[in-house]
Amino acid sequence: MKKFTILVVLSVLLSVQFAAAQDDAPQAGSSGLGDPYFPDLGNGGYDAEHYTISLIWDDETNNIEATTTVLAKANLDLITFNLDFGGFDIEHVLVDGTEATFTREERELAITPATPLRQDETFEVMVSYNGVPGEDVSDYYDVFARGWMRYPSGVYVASEPDGAAYWYPVNDHPLDKASYTFIITVPDAYTAAANGQLVSMVDNDDPTTTFTWEARDEMASYLATVNIAEFTEVTAAGPHDLPIRHYFPADKTDELTETFANFSDIIAYFETIIGPYPFEAAGAAVADVRLSFALETQTLILFGSDIALGRSGAEEVIAHELAHQWFGNSVSLAQWKDIWLNEGFATYLSMLWLEHSEGQNELLRQMNAYYTYLARSRRSTAPANPPQDNLFNDGVYLRGAWALHALRLSVGDAIFFDILRTYYDRFKYSNATTADFISVASEVSGEDQSDLLHGWLLDDKIPPKPKQTFKP
Ligand SMILES: [Zn+2]
Repeated sequence: MKKFTILVVLSVLLSVQFAAAQDDAPQAGSSGLGDPYFPDLGNGGYDAEHYTISLIWDDETNNIEATTTVLAKANLDLITFNLDFGGFDIEHVLVDGTEATFTREERELAITPATPLRQDETFEVMVSYNGVPGEDVSDYYDVFARGWMRYPSGVYVASEPDGAAYWYPVNDHPLDKASYTFIITVPDAYTAAANGQLVSMVDNDDPTTTFTWEARDEMASYLATVNIAEFTEVTAAGPHDLPIRHYFPADKTDELTETFANFSDIIAYFETIIGPYPFEAAGAAVADVRLSFALETQTLILFGSDIALGRSGAEEVIAHELAHQWFGNSVSLAQWKDIWLNEGFATYLSMLWLEHSEGQNELLRQMNAYYTYLARSRRSTAPANPPQDNLFNDGVYLRGAWALHALRLSVGDAIFFDILRTYYDRFKYSNATTADFISVASEVSGEDQSDLLHGWLLDDKIPPKPKQTFKP
């Protein structure tokens, strides 16, 4: 008996010591953040704080010669860590100024610094690379948002959900937001516009110009954008002197100035129902190409000219993308499966703008049309349960909007708008889940909203259409 006890004690001591030694040893940062739909997006072991993306663009080849510097903080002692990065020839990887070794496998770039990184310390990774964005890349999730895209008269960047890693090395998940500096050099005829504010424009000795943009508000990687074309800049002052700058194709400036005439009024209206506009600037970049989409790139919304011109619903799209600055960009997703928190909210907020500007009948007409469509559609899924390969299906947008509309009809306007404001205020500049929203809705209304919201968000079949009587 005694002997046995001593043996047990010894082995316990040994395993404690062994575990302690293992914890002390620097570890490998994980190659993903465990998103249920995209487990390899993002990386563990560190938090990115700031990206400086410096690049020279060649308009003839679409080649970029780039250096991206990531300032990050280690969450643990790291012997190696990953960035998401696809394509390009990498020339150097430096960690804190010292050459590091690296390996690549599809979109994972694994970096081993010369000496391990210490927990809680800030470090700087510099990757210099060269190539044509997207060339020889086959592992995109999406068919349209592939990152850096060349079109006949310029370049746009749209990356939702995973295109960012195909133009800069990045911790590519909304859970790790960061601020950005863009230093973009283009041939003299072009203008380069990116997120945030233009801080300098330098005409170089060769026939190029360098535009430096600072985006001080943290943003998710898929919202980083660069737009290059022969643009006209149109500026205005928004609510509280918010800087508004639009970049329009030079030959379409007049028509587009008209299309975007209500831009500032829409921001002012959303401020009254949600809270102050979250960022340092606002505006649109219009790419003169048929895109069939717009994207809520933070502070500088991307529109295809087909969406912005010659289409009666342009203002609805503008309201939708502006609504994303609050819901999607400031309150970010914690997992991609909850995409309805972006799209259902932006869709319903664009309906609220319609109600505000054209009256309640207009809202009802649209919501009824959506319901009729959803009740017949075989392709629309429950908003909070979209298939991984069809994240952006109509159900996410239209039934997501209906979930909010049904909640509003049930609790009344005063409580509904209180729910919106409270949810926004609690999760702004951060991340939220569907469960977070349901919990705020229940807390603010003082009654459990899970049954109602689960029906609209998760049931296969759309719930019966409620009677649309508005309560104060
Ligand atoms: Zn949207």
